[in-house]
Amino acid sequence: MGIEDDWRVITRDNRRDGAAAVAGIRGAGFRGPGISGGGVEARPMCMRSIPRMQLEQAIELFTRHFGRAPACAAAAPGRVNLIGEHVDYNDGFVLPMAIERQTLIVAAPRSDGHRLGGIISAGQPEPVSFSTEELTPPEQPTWVDYIRGVVAGFAEAGHEVPGFEAAIVSDVPVGGGLSSSAALEVAAATTLESLLGRPLDPVKKALLCQQAEHRFARVPCGIMDQFISVLGRAGHALLLDCRSLEPRHVAMTDEGVTVLIANTNCKHELTGGEYAERRAQCEAAARALGVASLRDIDVNTVIAAKPRLEPLVFRRAYHVVSEIERTPRAAAMLEAGDYEGFGRLMLDSHATLRDAFEVSTQELDLLVELAEQRMGEGGVYGARMTGAGFGGCTVTLVRSDKAHSVERYLYTHYLEQTGIEPTIFATRPADGARLVDLGGSS
Ligand code: ADP
Ligand code: MG
Repeated sequence: MGIEDDWRVITRDNRRDGAAAVAGIRGAGFRGPGISGGGVEARPMCMRSIPRMQLEQAIELFTRHFGRAPACAAAAPGRVNLIGEHVDYNDGFVLPMAIERQTLIVAAPRSDGHRLGGIISAGQPEPVSFSTEELTPPEQPTWVDYIRGVVAGFAEAGHEVPGFEAAIVSDVPVGGGLSSSAALEVAAATTLESLLGRPLDPVKKALLCQQAEHRFARVPCGIMDQFISVLGRAGHALLLDCRSLEPRHVAMTDEGVTVLIANTNCKHELTGGEYAERRAQCEAAARALGVASLRDIDVNTVIAAKPRLEPLVFRRAYHVVSEIERTPRAAAMLEAGDYEGFGRLMLDSHATLRDAFEVSTQELDLLVELAEQRMGEGGVYGARMTGAGFGGCTVTLVRSDKAHSVERYLYTHYLEQTGIEPTIFATRPADGARLVDLGGSS
């Protein structure tokens, strides 16, 4: 599949041609405070690897549009949630990991003193320009508002954001449930940290990015995506308590297991209000059960209350409360190498998302069923839909030596039964946001 090839660490020693000098790709960490507070040990922000082609593409895009070389670069990954779905906004636990797909931004401060941001993103027809001084939330958000929102967050935190130009290249699928939006916000925030020479506290950075999405993109997202894009660590998932915001890295260093992400490539054209509707239903369920949040009760209490609850309210509460209970158990199993146990909980999670929370689709169910057919000797431990639902991706935990055959199985049978070609890739847990060395020029 070439994943190792794409992702090999390119050091000064194995650069072969002169052009590769632009892709000098090694740690360029802040020497600042690193990660502090929230139960995460201090650790300088640094990077492990980035695909050379992606960096070259970003530099080329920047140079073509702005007529000079960029001065700094930053990358932030997308994410996949292993378990703990639709519970971040219910004060529950989530268990995401950063993926080996990322959004990369190369940038330079403007030389003319104008406080304007000029941004080009690969795939967009032309650069967009905006003031870095006057930032009000838009009526009709567009892609650039994710970045304007981040700039506004820095301004509100007292930073004087200079004018800059930036080019963006990403290999996180957009709108596929792997959080290209958080990758974009966090990459933008990391770029601004670099331009200002001032690293933010990582937890504050994640919250700033979430606010950008709420206020400027008008998406009422939870905190999971921005947290993992900031705090991801190679070889680890992240158990995040969304009530206390206490993060705990969960070792997943065993290279004998791999995560397969399968995109249904099928987004259902709904009204778009389903996410907000589920949030409102969860709040209504908490009220009906007499608690501030669904985090505050256990499954037995929900079951005991069933006779006096509306059936829909019961179903929503049942998924959320059982999922909140499952997630820390799943994290302990993962850490202990009990992949069979973990896989069973993934299937339980999928079942309540499908039947009680009603956010799955036939295509997601099919990919999970196909994965289940490869359990045991086939190498699959478990699978579930991941992300908000109504399309998007499934996540499958699989033995590494069987990953390729499972990928082929899912691909062939999904295509045969739906006529839609899925996109499937394997990933190990990756690092969170980091600076990227442009190759001695920055
Ligand atoms: P997801 O986060 O699951 O990928 P969202 O709908 O939350 O899906 O976010 C996708 C939106 O984020 C896009 O429609 C676009 O506005 C913005 N976006 C994400 N990545 C990029 C990018 N590389 N360039 C421009 N816009 C992007
Ligand atoms: Mg998103």
